[in-house]
Amino acid sequence: MPGHTTTALPTLFISDLHLDPSRPDIHRALLSFLSNQAQECGALYILGDFFEVWLGDDHSQPSVDTIILALKALSCPVFIMHGNRDFLLGERFCAQTGATLLNDPTTIDLHGTKTLLMHGDSLCTEDTAYMQVRGQLRSPAFQADFLSKSLADRAAFAAQARQQSQAHTQSTDMGIMDVTASEVARVMAEAGVLRLIHGHTHRPARHSLLVEGESAERIVLGDWDQLGWFIQADATGVRLESFSL
Ligand code: MN
Repeated sequence: MPGHTTTALPTLFISDLHLDPSRPDIHRALLSFLSNQAQECGALYILGDFFEVWLGDDHSQPSVDTIILALKALSCPVFIMHGNRDFLLGERFCAQTGATLLNDPTTIDLHGTKTLLMHGDSLCTEDTAYMQVRGQLRSPAFQADFLSKSLADRAAFAAQARQQSQAHTQSTDMGIMDVTASEVARVMAEAGVLRLIHGHTHRPARHSLLVEGESAERIVLGDWDQLGWFIQADATGVRLESFSL
């Protein structure tokens, strides 16, 4: 299990920055976060949708190169999980940044508390249309085929997928696109944890729940839009923090 429990330095979590050239403010906020908060941390976990879209590690962009260098310059270990938008982040990106790709889900020992980490999209089981698309997009056959296409073809496919996703989001009940309570309890019981940290829903909050009769907690990171969100965890506890961009 990855995890840095012996260090006194806090562990940081971020997700859903949706980095995109159209939002230089978020790009700047990340660089500031990396050169401030992340300088004093024991580890940085990025729990998915770091990028708004990822066409493949071979798609080079100046704004992404800046971020790769900033991640590489960190002295703490960096862990990154796929989101539903950047699930094609691969080995080359990890080699360039020094980041370690995490499975979704992953269990870590977070300063003495076993903690489950997820992006969160797989918890939205009531959104059956999305879950079906997710299955297709995550299949190795689809991904190998997609990555064999030209960057122009990949960009066209991604733009179309994004339009369909926006149409789906607008026509689907908000409750259906949130996590399914029974699925949360199920994955937490399966992992044997009383704490879950995830993103994806863009509904930053701390939720109490029962997992097999025991008090448990689900902490949801926020997306970076008007505010930036992060979690800071150390031996004294876990704090969900925000700052204005
Ligand atoms: Mn997501």
